[in-house]
Amino acid sequence: MKITNIPNQIIRGAFAPVNKGKIDTIVLHHMAHKTAGVKEVERWHINNGWTAIGYNYFICFDGTIYKGRGLNVGAGVANHNSHIISIGFQGDYHSAKVSMPDSQFNSGVELISYLQSILPNAKKVEGHRYFGGSVCPGTYFPLEEMKKLKKRGETMEKTYNKVNDCPDWSRATVQKLIGKGYLKGDENGNLGLNDTMIKILVINDRAGIYGN
Ligand SMILES: [Zn+2]
Repeated sequence: MKITNIPNQIIRGAFAPVNKGKIDTIVLHHMAHKTAGVKEVERWHINNGWTAIGYNYFICFDGTIYKGRGLNVGAGVANHNSHIISIGFQGDYHSAKVSMPDSQFNSGVELISYLQSILPNAKKVEGHRYFGGSVCPGTYFPLEEMKKLKKRGETMEKTYNKVNDCPDWSRATVQKLIGKGYLKGDENGNLGLNDTMIKILVINDRAGIYGN
């Protein structure tokens, strides 16, 4: 995971470092704007008279993670900033039904996982609306999916390298194919089979394709 600095970041004044042990919640926001990028959001916040962009981190549609205030006290949720880390997500996830791009979603999962690894008490992940007074991060923000901290498109597929790693029902087939020299594996003898391959081998074996 890469965290990028905001180009020519505007900081007017001093940041106060967060007390890492006091951070208990990672709070997610949307921009309620279809396209605004990190520099535009930074400009809004500077125009509010704030020290800098309010979010601790900002994640674009393309998955770029920008460091806003980083591990300094943010300005994401009034009266709560001393115990939260705020992540802003590019986009409007409320006014119309939209789905978050996988690149942005997966960066969100990576960043939250990373923050939880360095902030021992940051166990909760919530939307801004959890604290009231806002619909943020919007009805169409994949909040519950993101809380699961599982990246999209990742298969948790197992690789079977040895006969004994393979499921019981497939071992006779795999052993037979090795015995016949059909299955050799790589230079270290690792078979590199996955579930789909094993199923096909067993079906073929039952069909008599590999003989007795
Ligand atoms: Zn918000």
